[in-house]
Amino acid sequence: MKKISIIVPCYNEEESLPLFYDEITKVAKKMKKCVFEFILVNDGSRDKTLEIIRDYAKKDERVRYISFSRNFGKEAAMFAGLEASIGDYTAIMDADLQDPPRLLVEMFDTLEEGEYDCIATRSTSRHGYSFLRKTFTKWFYKIIAKISKTEMVDGARDFRLMTRQMVDAILSMKEYNRYSKGLFSFVGFNTKWIEFENQDRQAGTSKFNFFKLFSYAVEGIVGFSTAPLVFSALIGVIFCIIAFLLILVIIIKTLIWGDPVGGWPSLVCIIFMVSGVQLFCTGIIGEYLAKTYLETKNRPIYIVKETEKDLKK
Ligand code: UDP
Ligand code: MG
Repeated sequence: MKKISIIVPCYNEEESLPLFYDEITKVAKKMKKCVFEFILVNDGSRDKTLEIIRDYAKKDERVRYISFSRNFGKEAAMFAGLEASIGDYTAIMDADLQDPPRLLVEMFDTLEEGEYDCIATRSTSRHGYSFLRKTFTKWFYKIIAKISKTEMVDGARDFRLMTRQMVDAILSMKEYNRYSKGLFSFVGFNTKWIEFENQDRQAGTSKFNFFKLFSYAVEGIVGFSTAPLVFSALIGVIFCIIAFLLILVIIIKTLIWGDPVGGWPSLVCIIFMVSGVQLFCTGIIGEYLAKTYLETKNRPIYIVKETEKDLKK
């Protein structure tokens, strides 16, 4: 018998959690060769999510849970789940059924063949998401593919079934600024990709607004590429060259036509532009510095308030 740990980050999922639980238990029933543990991670929900989770934990001994002291974000929830998991194989799944539990059967069978260490999923379309989100996501993957050595698969979801070995490798990376799509790829191992049509969220609403996603994208870029730093240095060099050429032009013009003082408007424009570029580059450096700053503080990635062990008291 193989043990499978299913990790589910939940943030205000009172509506979708019951649907998810029904689905996953149905699939678990079909998979006779495995025993399951469901690790529900309550990421500081403000609705009835924790109560629902407690109920499940009381009536179903396969259900374990970790409840955070506040909202720490999906990355922290996934990390906490991975740390708690003890299964031979571990999967991470969203609570909104956008990651179809039925795929687990195929994923498990493929892992059992022994050729792969991880079966990952990617959705082939993004219907159901806003136009703005689709466009930005597309651009993000285009840019990161160019500037990072770590491969990021377009449309990759966090839904994947991994061997113990791979989970341990991911856990060995204790960084504070976590960008899982990068970490999964960074650790290597043999990954098989299976594709599926994007599913609509079954209930509730998306927890990622545009701003949250944007900063997540910045997290990915800063975490897995130092190209923006090179880019800012490059802009510096280009501007030096332009300045040098302009000096030559001015000297030659003055020698030929004398020195009528002019060019005030162009000067103002140049000052504005150059200081803009400078601030932009300082911002890039600042972003890296900020991440280093947070990293050196060594703060915990999450803080637990309650687990299933507290129930039995
Ligand atoms: N989630 C979380 N903490 C957060 C935001 C999201 O644990 O701060 C969970 C959420 O409950 C869900 C999963 O992460 O199970 C994916 O979130 P969502 O479906 O809102 O994201 P989307 O599908 O829109 O990318
Ligand atoms: Mg979702």
